[in-house]
Amino acid sequence: VGVAAALASLPPTRSALSQFSLLNQVAIVTGGHRGIGLEMALALAEAGAVVYCLDLPAQPDSDWLKVQSYAAKLPSLDVGDADKKGRLEYVSGDVTDQQEMWKIAERIAQKEGRIDICVANAGILRGFECLEYPAEEFRKLLDVNINGVLFSAQAAGRQMERLGIKGSIVLIASMSGTIANKDQHWVAYNTSKAAVLQMARSMACELGVKGIRVNSISPGYIYTQMTRNFLDTKPHLMAEWSSHNPLGRLGMPDELRGVVLWLASAASTFCTGSDIIVDGGHRAW
Ligand code: NDP
Repeated sequence: VGVAAALASLPPTRSALSQFSLLNQVAIVTGGHRGIGLEMALALAEAGAVVYCLDLPAQPDSDWLKVQSYAAKLPSLDVGDADKKGRLEYVSGDVTDQQEMWKIAERIAQKEGRIDICVANAGILRGFECLEYPAEEFRKLLDVNINGVLFSAQAAGRQMERLGIKGSIVLIASMSGTIANKDQHWVAYNTSKAAVLQMARSMACELGVKGIRVNSISPGYIYTQMTRNFLDTKPHLMAEWSSHNPLGRLGMPDELRGVVLWLASAASTFCTGSDIIVDGGHRAW
C-alpha cells in the first residue's frame, strides 16, 4: 500500500518534448532588450510563453527595436495548439527600484492572470583596479547586479506565492562568481556574481516549500555588447579569452537558449538550488 500511495503521488509522466512547452505561461526577463536576455526571452516565447522583456528605456540603437519584425513572425514550437503562440512584450523599468519592480510584476499578473517564470538577467560590468575602486562605482555595480537581481526575483516570486503558482526563477550569475583573473580589475563584478550564486541557493531553500524553484546559470565569456565594450579597447583579449577553454572560442548568446528553457520548464521540476555552468569548459581547463 505504501508503494502504491507513493507512486500515486508522483506527477504524471509526460513525454520529454512536451515538458518543454510553456504554453499559457507568463515570463519576465530583465535586461531583455539585447544580448543574453533577449536570446533567453526569444527561447521562452518560442516555447509558447508570453514574455515581458524588462529593460531601461529603449535606446535608438537597441537590439530590441531591430528584433520587433522578427518577433512578429516568432516561430512557435509545435505544441498542438496553433491559436496560442508565445509573444514578446516590452516593459520599461529599472531593476534597482524595488517598489517599481514590485508594481510592474503586479500589473503583469493582473493583466495576464499569472507569472510563471522570472529570469533575473540584467547586469552591468565595469573595471577598476581594486585598490582604487571608486566608492560610487562599487555601490552602483552592486546595486544593479545584487539588489536588482533580488528585487526582480522578489517581484515575480511574490506574485507566484499570491497566486499559488509553482514557478521557476532563474538568476544569471557568471563563472566570474567562482574564479578571478589577475588582469581584469573586476573585483566588484566578481563579488556581485558570487553573491548571486549564494542568493539562488538561499532563495531555493526558502521557497521550495511553496513549490517555487530557484536556480542560477553561470555563463563563461559570451560575445555580447558587455564583452564587446572590453574587446573594442583591448582586442588582444579575444585570443586570450578564447584560448582559456577547450572549445577555443567565445560563446554566442543563443547558446544559452536551451539551458534557460530547461530551467524554466517542467523538464527540470526536480532541479532547484543548482548552478548550471555554460562556459565552454573554461573551468575544466
Ligand atoms: P548586455 O550589457 O549586453 O545586456 C545587459 C542588459 O541589462 C542591457 O539591455 C541593459 O540595458 C540592461 N540593464 C542594465 N542595467 C539595468 C537596470 N538597472 N534595469 C534594467 N535593465 C538594466 O549584457 P549581457 O547580455 O552580456 O549580460 C547579461 C547577463 O549575463 C548579465 O547579468 C551579465 O553579468 C551576465 N553574464 C554575461 C557574460 C558575458 O560574457 N557576456 C558572462 C557571464 C555572465 P541598457 O541597454 O539600457 O544598458
